[in-house]
Amino acid sequence: MRIAAMVLGLMLAAWTFFEAFLIAVLSNSGSEMSAAAGLGLIGSLCAGLAAGVALPAPRFSAILFVVAGGISFLAAGVGYGNHAVYGVLFFLLAVMAFLGWRGKVKASREIAAERQRQAERDDRLEALLASRDHGSILCPSCNRLNPPATRYCGNCGTALDASRTPTITSVP
Ligand SMILES: [Zn+2]
Repeated sequence: MRIAAMVLGLMLAAWTFFEAFLIAVLSNSGSEMSAAAGLGLIGSLCAGLAAGVALPAPRFSAILFVVAGGISFLAAGVGYGNHAVYGVLFFLLAVMAFLGWRGKVKASREIAAERQRQAERDDRLEALLASRDHGSILCPSCNRLNPPATRYCGNCGTALDASRTPTITSVP
C-alpha cells in the first residue's frame, strides 16, 4: 500500500508538475491562469514530497497528500479546472498513505508480539533445562555434572555419593 502510494504519487506529482509548468510558461504572467498554475506547481511539489516520504513516514506522507489535494482544489477554484480532479486523486493517495501507515503499525505490533512469544519459549526452555539438571550430582574430582542417581562419574570414574557431594538444586 505504501509502495503503491509512493509510485502513484510520484507519477501524479510529475504529471501535474509538468502540466502546471506548461501552463505557467504559456499563460501571461499576472493572469489568473498563471496564479492557478503557480498553485498547481506548489501542489505538485507537495505531492512529490509526500510520495518521497510514503515509505519511511507514511503518516507524514498522508498529511502532505492532503495539503497537496487542498492546494489543487484552491488552484481549481482560481481557474485551473483540471486540478479539481488532481485534488481528488491526491486525497485518495492520502487515504492510501494513511492505510499504509496503519499497516506499518500493525506489522510492527505483530513483530513485537512474535518477539514476546519467542522470549516466553526461551524462558520455558530454560526452565525445562534447569529442571532436568535438578538433582544432578557434581563429581568432586573433575566437576562434571552427572545425572541423578549415578554411582560413578561418567568422566573420571570417581565413586559418587549423592548424600555427600553437593547436588544442584537450581540453575540460576
Ligand atoms: Zn569425575
